[in-house]
Amino acid sequence: MTHSDYSFHWLHPHVESRATGTHGDGLYAVRTIRAGECLLIFGGYILTVEQESRLAGKLSDNGVQIARNLVICSTRTAEWGGENFLNHSCEPNAGFKGQIAIHAMRTIRKGEQVTIDYAMVLYHAKGGPAYKLACLCGAPTCRGVVTDNDWRIAELQAKYRGWFQPYLQDEIDKCPATAPCAVPPAPTFQRKASICDPSPAPSPPHADLPGSQH
Ligand SMILES: [Zn+2]
Repeated sequence: MTHSDYSFHWLHPHVESRATGTHGDGLYAVRTIRAGECLLIFGGYILTVEQESRLAGKLSDNGVQIARNLVICSTRTAEWGGENFLNHSCEPNAGFKGQIAIHAMRTIRKGEQVTIDYAMVLYHAKGGPAYKLACLCGAPTCRGVVTDNDWRIAELQAKYRGWFQPYLQDEIDKCPATAPCAVPPAPTFQRKASICDPSPAPSPPHADLPGSQH
């Protein structure tokens, strides 16, 4: 085995990346996966959010935020693994257990796309680019727009308790119960293209797997 055989990442043997048909690649369960199973583990370099934003092309938007101003990410596309195609849904089936691991929140059926809610991980870092994404996940609870301030939404804090990035859970726990984390005005800066960009808009959205992906 050579060094190039090693990987930054780990992917569950029953999860694979493939084209969604509507918005780039996504991660899919190829067999039924039980609630609680570890689906993937992220790896890579530790960069500031601002450093990540200066990486070329889609690399600039593929890090996983592990602290308010730090991401873990690849710096070359050759380093990408399947975990780089983990998409957002407003009704996700997976979430964080610790800083770098994604686990199943419930049973995930064979053929179902593995998704998280980006509210579980995104935080608007001081000096970093704001994140704003039109969401077409199709879920009845779809927020329409996903931002890096969504973790401040009280109902999401309750819905995803135990599934947030630890640094975000710490932020949430610091919010006073009587005035929980007011949502600031929506950011106006559109971050660079991401794997979740909805264009071209499918009609109907995500006909291949309604309501579970973005
Ligand atoms: Zn949505």
